[in-house]
Amino acid sequence: MDKIQPIADPTKGFGGLINMGLTCYGNAVLQNVRHLKKLVWIMEEGKYNTLFQKKPTERRKKLEGIASAFAEIVQLLGKCKNGQSVRPGTFWKRVPGAVEDTMYEQLASKMCHDSHEFFLFLFEAVHEATSQEVDMRILRPPPTTPEETLVHGALKAWQDTFTKEYSPLVHMFYGMFHQRTECQECKNISHRWEAFNTLKVPVPQEGENFSLMDALREDMVAEDIEEYVCEACGPPRRAAKKTVSIWRMPLALVVTLKRFTNDGKKIHTELAPLPAFIDFASYFSKESPEIVGETRYTLRGMVDHHGPPSFGHYTAQCQHLGNDTWYTYDDESVREMPAAHFGSSNYMLFLERHTGAAMA
Ligand SMILES: [Zn+2]
Repeated sequence: MDKIQPIADPTKGFGGLINMGLTCYGNAVLQNVRHLKKLVWIMEEGKYNTLFQKKPTERRKKLEGIASAFAEIVQLLGKCKNGQSVRPGTFWKRVPGAVEDTMYEQLASKMCHDSHEFFLFLFEAVHEATSQEVDMRILRPPPTTPEETLVHGALKAWQDTFTKEYSPLVHMFYGMFHQRTECQECKNISHRWEAFNTLKVPVPQEGENFSLMDALREDMVAEDIEEYVCEACGPPRRAAKKTVSIWRMPLALVVTLKRFTNDGKKIHTELAPLPAFIDFASYFSKESPEIVGETRYTLRGMVDHHGPPSFGHYTAQCQHLGNDTWYTYDDESVREMPAAHFGSSNYMLFLERHTGAAMA
């Protein structure tokens, strides 16, 4: 599943989504993900559903039901002309069954939930519904240098995470962090890798506005650990320094701004406008071989949250796949915008890896 079919028709793809009773938090996410080129391609008939099982378990059957209802929404929205809407009734009817006895159980109740949480539910449901065990072999000779040992360690971590459950969404949405921890006693450095499908970026409480990339950098500064068990010099527990950087980036990067605090408040600091290309090169681990590839990303859409934290309203703004114009999606209402709007309501960002010709 490597080739991306271009979606060229600029007269279609404007569909709104009817609110099925406090479902704006989901509609805003659905609009954003269906503006990601590769996702549209994966969710075509005859692609995602070839990964369904012949004899699915009860659980898998429910998730396959979510995936096919979601695929139908993506396909229909892509065919809508201006002024047309899609009624996502089947999808929402299947949600309560799919979240039963899971960490997303609260999504069964009819109230306004959190868009980020809905994204994780949808992502995991489609991932599990289309996943299968795959044979991931590391096609490299055994490592002989420290650099090769690291690359091997990262490949092994990727293999351990996904070999039992691999889906087309893995390559599209998952990146990997590189954690290095330095023992302050013996200076030994240990390495760990961890897959992620969302970058969670803190929002500063102070100031008029903030830069996404500065906030991300702030989050990645070295952290002091007090009670570290060193694998080289052993007990007692030591002081250590832990740094996190990016080892591998996904094709589609989802960023959630941490606007909602644990004590139920919302931080209103405005997001400063993003440049046309956002380069993550300086956030990569120096040891990652992936840093030499394309590290620039472009914003494709955003989920906005309006009003107080406990209720309020979610909308989407997305860039059209065929004509680059920005639109606001407020349930079934769709409006053209002069440009993307940055400010205090931006909550989730959807970016895609740059695929155009290299800039001079
Ligand atoms: Zn040590």
